[in-house]
Amino acid sequence: MNPTGPLCTWDREVDIVIVGYGFAGGVAGISAHDSGARVLLLEKMPHPGGISILSGGGVAFARNAESALQYLKRTCNGTTPDEVLRTVANGMVEIIDWIRELARVSGTEPSQSELRGHGTYPFRGTNDIDSIKLKDFPAYDSFPWAKGLRGGARLFKMIYDNVALRKIEVLFSTPAKRLITSAEGEVLGLAAENGGREIRVKARKAVILACGGFENNEAMKLQYFQAQPVYPVYLGNTGDGIQMAQKAGAALWHMWHFHGAYGFKYPDFPFAIRHVWAGPRKDERKMVWIAVDRFGHRFMNEYHPAPQDTGARPLEFYDPDIQDFPRIPCYLIFDEQGRNLGPVAMVIVNDARYHYLWSEDNKTEIEKGWIVKADSIKELAEQIKVTPDNLEATIDRWNNHCTAGEDNDFHRPSKTMMPIIEPPFYAMEAWPIVSNTQGGPVHNPEQRVVDAMGTPIPRLYAAGEITSIFGHLYLEAGNITECFVGGRIAGKNAAAEKPWE
Ligand SMILES: Cc1cc2nc3c(=O)[nH]c(=O)nc-3n(C[C@H](O)[C@H](O)[C@H](O)COP(=O)(O)OP(=O)(O)OC[C@H]3O[C@@H](n4cnc5c(N)ncnc54)[C@H](O)[C@@H]3O)c2cc1C
Repeated sequence: MNPTGPLCTWDREVDIVIVGYGFAGGVAGISAHDSGARVLLLEKMPHPGGISILSGGGVAFARNAESALQYLKRTCNGTTPDEVLRTVANGMVEIIDWIRELARVSGTEPSQSELRGHGTYPFRGTNDIDSIKLKDFPAYDSFPWAKGLRGGARLFKMIYDNVALRKIEVLFSTPAKRLITSAEGEVLGLAAENGGREIRVKARKAVILACGGFENNEAMKLQYFQAQPVYPVYLGNTGDGIQMAQKAGAALWHMWHFHGAYGFKYPDFPFAIRHVWAGPRKDERKMVWIAVDRFGHRFMNEYHPAPQDTGARPLEFYDPDIQDFPRIPCYLIFDEQGRNLGPVAMVIVNDARYHYLWSEDNKTEIEKGWIVKADSIKELAEQIKVTPDNLEATIDRWNNHCTAGEDNDFHRPSKTMMPIIEPPFYAMEAWPIVSNTQGGPVHNPEQRVVDAMGTPIPRLYAAGEITSIFGHLYLEAGNITECFVGGRIAGKNAAAEKPWE
């Protein structure tokens, strides 16, 4: 049982070390603590929340586990074993009761009104799936580093309050650097950086990796994603846990898959900005733009069933004839009526160094040059260096579709369509952006990380985005669900381990 490397001395000793303090880490901490374990949470950033706090805060639940399983199977398309999906499906049935219990601590409760009435896609089982959010309560004031956030901040406040109530110790600005293992590969603890020096933390029972994906690791995105570049919305998730798990022998899954849209990127910020269209498409809210490639041609239904999930996919097209990505960047084109319908983007950021409020009428961003303005389509095309004849033809065709009430080219839902007729006209450069990655170490139904042969790596668990089950399509609100379900299981099973001495 000797740790590998120079004889190991420990600076700290606990039962379970959890890496990352977003939903998955917080939930795992609560669950491990409630199962009797002494827990230490390590967070790399000076503040908690990860991308969890940026989310919409929707949590998918199911009325029937068998239906949920059928739906998840279709969603994952064979990329995740049934026994893992069955665990999530069962958890989806129990989740509301547990959230209700946790929410009481923060003086709130899950909203009774169901959001969508079904899953994202019309797959078998969809009618037994829905999602909840928390009812409003004062959350935002508690998070001065993350101003103006929405449902995710409410839900995270609930986790934060529950972690605080249990007096679970959290070390901020303490990135985990490597796992410490025995010669036999058993995980005994980890090394982290704290206050400029290395600390070694002994984990008598287990380590749980809950430190998110690799959305801000350029080298990993280059290896796993087709599209280049893909900009992140959060800077803290750099694939650290994935690399640590790999070194311990973990198999990987779903590395190509990410939850992402097309959005905006400006040199003023190191992160990307999401557009504002999200949520159940039954809202049938007008979307003000169409997207065109660098030649001025439209190429996609801009309003997918889950516009913030699959929106990036059509941009991934690589054209072998030009040996380039003709849709990276693409351009969003709209008119004065569109500009008047409200902000086209919303800056959400979990980083005390940055804050930006997008203007209600988009005028500040026009002045900044983030939105290009012109009196005619021809002039607009010249400014963004797109062939004017092509862009004019594209807009004419789109306007005809709007008059007919049907998009014969890409089948955008008719109620979301609006013509582009009233000058001035506007264009915005848009890029693929990643909200969260869905790939990482493979886990089994007990949330144990397994190697390429399916054998669990002793005392190593994972939960949340780092080990997402979603390997093909995402169930909206399902990522948070897996943080709750997987975090709870990981915490409980890790706490049940026998200490290694
Ligand atoms: C804008 C947006 C909206 C979304 N909306 C929804 C939604 O409504 N419903 C839904 O289901 N999903 C949604 N998602 C996805 C969902 O939010 C995430 O999948 C989920 O919150 C991931 O939680 P997590 O705890 O695994 O990761 P995170 O919340 O990112 O937490 C990981 C933490 O680990 C820390 N960390 C990283 N490396 C280290 C290290 N080496 N040492 C210590 N700490 C480290 C990070 O700083 C971070 O705080 C959304 C995502 C975004 C970005």
